[in-house]
Amino acid sequence: MVIDWVARARAEVQRIMPYQAGKPIEEARRELGLERLVKLASNENPHGPSDKVLEALQKSALACNRYPDSNGYYLKQRLAQQLSVDPAMLTLGNGSNDVLELVASAYLDRGASAVYSEYAFVVYSLAVQRSGAEARVAPAKDYCHDLDAMLAATDASTRVVYIANPNNPTGNYVCESALRAFLQALDPGIIVVLDEAYCEYVQVGDYPDGIALQREFANLVVTRTFSKAYGLGGLRVGFAVSDRGIADVLNRVREPFNVSSLSLAAAEAALNDHEHLAQAIATNNAGMQQLADGLDALGLKRIPSVANFITFEPGRDAAAVNQALLQAGVIVRPVANYNLPLHLRASVGLAEENALFLEKLALVI
Ligand SMILES: *Cc1c(COP(=O)(O)O)cnc(C)c1O
Repeated sequence: MVIDWVARARAEVQRIMPYQAGKPIEEARRELGLERLVKLASNENPHGPSDKVLEALQKSALACNRYPDSNGYYLKQRLAQQLSVDPAMLTLGNGSNDVLELVASAYLDRGASAVYSEYAFVVYSLAVQRSGAEARVAPAKDYCHDLDAMLAATDASTRVVYIANPNNPTGNYVCESALRAFLQALDPGIIVVLDEAYCEYVQVGDYPDGIALQREFANLVVTRTFSKAYGLGGLRVGFAVSDRGIADVLNRVREPFNVSSLSLAAAEAALNDHEHLAQAIATNNAGMQQLADGLDALGLKRIPSVANFITFEPGRDAAAVNQALLQAGVIVRPVANYNLPLHLRASVGLAEENALFLEKLALVI
């Protein structure tokens, strides 16, 4: 007898569409047999990890027979100092993705609802679906989170609102005054998860500092990550800053050893390497200008981005353009799963990687 294992899963799980990751370089290499490949598909730091991180990894590797510190004492101390928060307000995660899930598993249930925006980072939808709570997707405005629509989508059943700032895959942001007005109008018992995965890159003056706002709004949970500007995507470390009571709850539902010893050591070292971070930001500023200018020169529409990626309309069948770029050795990200079938997303790479992408794009469109 053949058993249908999918049919036996919880109904919520049966409806989940698995996350579609950016194509790993090795996979593209295997499939296409190409030597030179440029990956602009996962918003990674194109410089690689810092030397200080590599040193810390080598050192901690010698003790990898031991379990990690379940409380991440040293990393929390270092973060607390840098962010001027109490270590008891910190929750570490296996990537910030983990923390986004922890909020859902602690606060969402059947009968509850959670609100996020159209085109918002797909992990919110995955976390909410898995919990059994009702997902309320507020319509976006000009591809941007519409906080008024999000507020209107909340009611007495709402436990959590997810806001990506800036959002992935659109790259746009909500400004300080709009976010503050939203938080003032919202029921203070509803948790607002403010996902700041790309905050280090943002260069605009009216971008809100989530951690400063958290001091005013106890329902705000700010998440950040070492995966993007800090260059540790492969090691999976992120964290939340929240009210101590919320941190207490998240601590109850996390896996006891959710961050590995190598990841803890690497994140601490990354925090101490200011130059490496500054280099990532400088490269991104120049690369974003290069990509924006290049797309404009090709006459392609793009969504203004303050992050380290840019989403644009290649003008003809985006899936076909994506495939042609792959054949030419450039991996970008299709975003049809975000209901953006006419767009593609490209991460900002090194100058020569951006140039190669623009050159190949010009050929295939
Ligand atoms: C990349 C990303 C994250 C972070 O993922 P990690 O689990 O920390 O690697 C979170 N939110 C958004 C919007 C992202 O794009």
